[in-house]
Amino acid sequence: MQDSPLLIVPPARMPCRYFLLRHRLARLLRALGVDSTDSIETLAAAVAQRLGVSIDLAEYPFRVPGFFAATIRTDDGYHVLVQSETSREHQAHITGHELAHILCGTTESAAQAIVNGTHRTGDYSNPEERDAEFVARTLTTWIRADLDARLPTQADAHAARLMRSLEDRIAWA
Ligand SMILES: [Zn+2]
Repeated sequence: MQDSPLLIVPPARMPCRYFLLRHRLARLLRALGVDSTDSIETLAAAVAQRLGVSIDLAEYPFRVPGFFAATIRTDDGYHVLVQSETSREHQAHITGHELAHILCGTTESAAQAIVNGTHRTGDYSNPEERDAEFVARTLTTWIRADLDARLPTQADAHAARLMRSLEDRIAWA
């Protein structure tokens, strides 16, 4: 199976490149119908549905220190393996990084980056690794900022309506 990118990354030296990438990411997330209160697993399911492929997420006990994740392309989709020996928050970030490769259509270069040792190791000399990390960081920042901005749940329907109008709108909503 070939990658079919949903997120078109701007050319390398384009001015305001990351601003444009963030804007395109927000537009894509709105089009996918996911909310910033949704989990990264929900986002993976929405991406899979849009692409008409399967995206299976699973934990894997990679050797420590070593890789955080690997994405394997199959005939009908992707298997994303995420390091089991780390926190839930880190796993969400790692999953976001792998989803970014799927969105940008760079899973093949990510596989090559594993061989070269730049994939999810903090070495971002590879521009496609930098883009994947930028997308993952933007996603997790938006999701966390949105959760932090939530007001307490209101039992009364009128108060709940009022709360929704007063609540800060953050991320891509
Ligand atoms: Zn990567």
